[in-house]
Amino acid sequence: MILEKFDLSGKVAIVTGARTGLGQGMAVGLAEAGADLVIVNHSPMPETENEIKRLGRRCLSIEVELSDIGLIPEIIEKTLNEFNKIDILVNNAGIIRRAPSVEFTEKDWDDVMNLNLKTVFFLSQAAAREMIKNNGGKIINIASMLSFQGGILVPSYAASKGGVASLTKTLANEWAAYNINVNAIAPGYMDTNNTEPIRKDEGRNKSIIERIPAARWGLPEDLKGAVVYLASEASNYVTGHILCVDGGWLAR
Ligand code: NAD
Repeated sequence: MILEKFDLSGKVAIVTGARTGLGQGMAVGLAEAGADLVIVNHSPMPETENEIKRLGRRCLSIEVELSDIGLIPEIIEKTLNEFNKIDILVNNAGIIRRAPSVEFTEKDWDDVMNLNLKTVFFLSQAAAREMIKNNGGKIINIASMLSFQGGILVPSYAASKGGVASLTKTLANEWAAYNINVNAIAPGYMDTNNTEPIRKDEGRNKSIIERIPAARWGLPEDLKGAVVYLASEASNYVTGHILCVDGGWLAR
């Protein structure tokens, strides 16, 4: 029956950047659907861990600096020690730096590209090696409206999210043969730490809300349905897709 295909009981999901915001919301959503969680962040995640455990799911917290790809083996090893397998990977951790392109620094370029794109590739590669042994899996990358549009004052962020969309498609093409679905969610304008500066700017806040057909900022809660769908058997024939959860932003 179709609703059973959305059930994630017995599945093991890794979610990066799960301390706050969208990662926290998606980790809790996956736990609500039955999955056990490995949550990864460079700082502690007590709130997320408590909520997952309150739902009766197992939760392993791994504290690592995700922009250092040398630490990826630690994530895989700890996950396998605890759960023996990886079914789902959500590449969510990401940062943004804002400055005019003529003043943009190499550090703001590298920091963003390393975490938002390089780590997404190498963590996916490491997880896929385990998923192949396990006859399949689900990888969900977090893209952005700036996978489609240019944005303003965020050159490295826009380049990284354009890259996430391309990478999603290329990995989907290669790994479909191994039963690994690779998709992305492109959130619209969401109320998290990432967007605090533009929400505090009265003019930008007003113009953004006026342009969103749903007439409000999205919430972490709004991604739960999309992530559970893409993590579940219900989406087995969906791969290389970028699912926009944007209150209609791109339709306008
Ligand atoms: P957020 O700042 O609340 O979440 C980012 C998470 O990543 C946090 O838990 C943070 O601690 C963690 N993190 C940051 N740097 C890290 C590092 N070096 N190592 C490990 N963990 C690190 O913001 P968010 O909006 O929830 O962002 C989550 C993802 O969603 C990002 O990839 C972001 O680009 C994307 N996104 C956000 C929006 C939005 O409107 N908020 C829109 C589109 C895409």
